[in-house]
Amino acid sequence: MKEKRFGIDIDGTVTCPSSLVPFLNDAFSLNITLQDIKKYDLAEALNISPDKMRDWFDKTEPAIYAASPLAKGAGEVLAKWQKSFHLLFISARRQHLLEVTEKWFQEQQLYFDHLELIGSHNKVEAAKRHAVDVFFEDKHDNAVMLAEELKIPVVLFNTPYNQETVPDNVIRVENWYEANLWVKNWLKTNEADFFTEAEKA
Ligand SMILES: [Mg+2]
Repeated sequence: MKEKRFGIDIDGTVTCPSSLVPFLNDAFSLNITLQDIKKYDLAEALNISPDKMRDWFDKTEPAIYAASPLAKGAGEVLAKWQKSFHLLFISARRQHLLEVTEKWFQEQQLYFDHLELIGSHNKVEAAKRHAVDVFFEDKHDNAVMLAEELKIPVVLFNTPYNQETVPDNVIRVENWYEANLWVKNWLKTNEADFFTEAEKA
């Protein structure tokens, strides 16, 4: 039986965080790599006017999402997890991008129990509504907010743009293999706690 419920961000978490780099290079005649993106806000990170960046992003978003490669290990680990856990994808993408998003999941052969595009970065409400036990994120302030307000562990995928300090229940990992190891240990600890509680009763 699937018991644990995993809330999972899409961009920069399931997709490779460098997915938009070739698009940025092309549009703004740059020659950057992911290492040059030290802030989540792209306008700020690349010193481009926010209006210009927003216009470009609105126009280019569907193409980026259609072409995004999977993050290292994501396909393998998620295929394994789908047998044991509820996989609830909760993304800040907007509703009009649902079709391109679903098509991409199909192409990548990624299974989901639920897919929700909330159109904003406030994931606390959605994660609460879905009774998420653990969240997987790449955006620093989201990770901290989810961890603090819901008192759940949040696994934060390490990137150049999320290096600020984090509370104890935000766990940094380098990739999906590390996330998988963390989950294994977390389950063991949970089970141990459960039996201790049962013995006390
Ligand atoms: Mg993200």
